[in-house]
Amino acid sequence: MPESRAGRGHPGKSMASFTLHGIPVSRGISIGRAHLLTPAALDVKHYLVAEEQVEAEVKRLQEAIAQVHRTLQDLWTDLPKDAPTELGAFIDVHVLILSDPMISEAPLDIIRSRHYNAEWALVTQIDELSAQFDEIEDAYLRERKQDIQQVAERVLKVLMGTELSAPPVPTGEDHFQPQMIVVAHDISPADMLAFRDRSFVGFVTDVGGQNSHTAIVARSLDIPAAVGMSQASRLVEQDDWVIVDGDAGVVICNPSALVLEQYRARQAALIKARKRLLKLKKTPAVTRDGTSITLLANIELPDDCPAALDAGAHGVGLFRSEFLFMGRGAQALRVPSEDEQFEQYRKAVLAMKGRAVTIRTLDVGADKPLDQTEHTALNPALGLRAIRYCLAEPQLFLTQLRAILRASAFGKVRILIPMLAHAFEIDQSLNMIAQAKAQLREQNIKFDESIEVGAMIEIPAAALALPMFVKRMDFLSIGTNDLIQYTLAIDRVDYEVAHLYNPLHPAVLNLIAMTIAAGAKAGIDVAVCGEMAGDVKLTRLLLGMGLREFSMHPAQLLAVKQEILASDLKTLTTRTRRILRAMEPGDIAEAVEQLQSL
Ligand code: PEP
Ligand code: MG
Repeated sequence: MPESRAGRGHPGKSMASFTLHGIPVSRGISIGRAHLLTPAALDVKHYLVAEEQVEAEVKRLQEAIAQVHRTLQDLWTDLPKDAPTELGAFIDVHVLILSDPMISEAPLDIIRSRHYNAEWALVTQIDELSAQFDEIEDAYLRERKQDIQQVAERVLKVLMGTELSAPPVPTGEDHFQPQMIVVAHDISPADMLAFRDRSFVGFVTDVGGQNSHTAIVARSLDIPAAVGMSQASRLVEQDDWVIVDGDAGVVICNPSALVLEQYRARQAALIKARKRLLKLKKTPAVTRDGTSITLLANIELPDDCPAALDAGAHGVGLFRSEFLFMGRGAQALRVPSEDEQFEQYRKAVLAMKGRAVTIRTLDVGADKPLDQTEHTALNPALGLRAIRYCLAEPQLFLTQLRAILRASAFGKVRILIPMLAHAFEIDQSLNMIAQAKAQLREQNIKFDESIEVGAMIEIPAAALALPMFVKRMDFLSIGTNDLIQYTLAIDRVDYEVAHLYNPLHPAVLNLIAMTIAAGAKAGIDVAVCGEMAGDVKLTRLLLGMGLREFSMHPAQLLAVKQEILASDLKTLTTRTRRILRAMEPGDIAEAVEQLQSL
C-alpha cells in the first residue's frame, strides 16, 4: 500500500482540504474515495519509420482499430438488458466515429506520406480534427470532439499495449466499505459502462458540459455528478476522500470532519426524504378540496414500466417511441420492423396491467437523429423532425401506426402526434391512421377501432390556434420542453443560452394556460408531459392553471403527489390568475414561490 494511502485512510483527517466548482449534471450527494481513471497518454512516442517498414506500421494501426471495433461490439453485446437506452446509442456513436475515414484512413495516409509512426500519425490527425471542432459554434456539436478523442484514446491504448486501470478493490480498512467516485479528465460512456457494476457512486470530470454524453449517462444512472471541473484529475489524488454535491456542482476533496458531518447529514436527509415519499405510493392523488389528479409516467422503453408502476403511476402519458429506433448498434442501418415494434408496444401495454399507454409517434430529428440520417440541416430543431419527418416517410409512419394499432388489441392505447403546427398535418396524420386501420381490417387483424388520437402542443403556433386542434383531436399534451425552446427562440441543448431557458417567462405561462383552458372548454383531456410536469416547484402553479394530468419521469412522481396532497385549488386558482396577468419576471418568480407556502 502506498505510504500516502495510510494517511488518507480516514475521512476528515490529515490531508489539506480544497473545493472545486463546476457544472452540476446529476443530482444528489455522494461521499467516497477518489478513483482516478487514467486516460491513455496522449503524449505518445514520435519517430519516423523506414520506407520498408511503412506497410507494417500501417498494418499495426489497422489492427489496433479492428481490435477497438471488436471491443465496442462486445460492449454492445454485453449491454445489460436494463441498461439505459443512451448507453447503446453512445457505443454506436463511437463505432460510427471509428468507421469514419477521417479516423480509419486519414492516419494511414499520414504514415504512408510522412512516415510517422502509428501513434504519431493518429495523434496528428486527431489534433487536426479537434482544431476543426473548436471552430464550430454549436455547443452540442463542439462537445462531440470529446467522443473523437475518447475513440482515439482507445486506439492508442491498444497501440501502446496499455489498458484502463481497473478500480481499486475496497480494502475494508475503515469502519464501513468506502465507495468510489470516479475522477477523470474525461470519461467515455463506454468506459463508464465497464465500471457500471462496480461500487462507484459519483463522477467528476475536468471537461464536459450539461449535454456531454457522460453527463447524460450519469443522469440516466441517477448518480451524483459534476463536470467542467477543469483541474480535478490533476489536483485530486488516488484514494483521496471526496464529496460530490451534484446539486451545486461542487467537489470537496479531503473534507474536514465538520464538513463531512454536514454532508453526511444532508445525504441522510435526502435518503430519508426519498424513503418517506415511498409511503405515498398508494395514496390517491387528491387535492385538499377533493379533486383527483391524474399522474402519468414518461417512459423511453417498455422496461421502464415497472418503475412507473412502483411509483404508482395511473398510466403512461408519454412513451418516447423514438428510443426503439435509436442505439440499435449493429442493426443501426435499418429501422425496427412492424413486428419488432408491435412486440415492444404490446410489452408496455401488458406491463401496465390495464392502465392506458400513450404512445408518441416517432419524434426524431434535432438532438435525436435516426442512426442512418444525414445531419445536414442548418437548424435541425426547425427542420424535418417528428411528424414532419413521418409525413415525408409515409411507409415508415404507416408501419409504426400499424404496430401501435395492433398493440391496442391488448389494452388501452392512445396515439400522440408530436410537433404539429398546421391543420393539414393533423388531417394527413389522421388520414394515415385511417389507412393503417383499413390495412389491418383487410388482414383481419384486431385493434381498438375507437383508439384516441392526441396532439402534442409544443410549437407556439399550435398554442395560438387551439380551435384547429380541439376540433380534430381527442386529447392534448403540452410539451413544455419544446414549447419553451420555440417560444423563446433558444436551442434547448445549447449550454451557452441555457440561462435564457425560463419556464416562468410570461409568454410561456400564458401559452400553457391558454391550452389548458381550451381543452377544458372543449371537454377534452389536457396533460403536460414536458419537464415542467415533474418540477415540484411548479406543481401548484400548474394546478392553479387548471391542469389535472401530469406526466413525468417515474422518479419524480411521488414528490409531485406530495405537493398535490397539500394543495388547495380554490386559493391556487385565484393566485394563478394574478400571476398570468403579471409581466415582470421578478414579480412572477416571487408569486410562484409564494404558492409553496399556501
Ligand atoms: C417536450 O417537448 O416537452 C416533450 C415532452 O418532448 P421531448 O422532450 O421528447 O421533445
Ligand atoms: Mg418535444
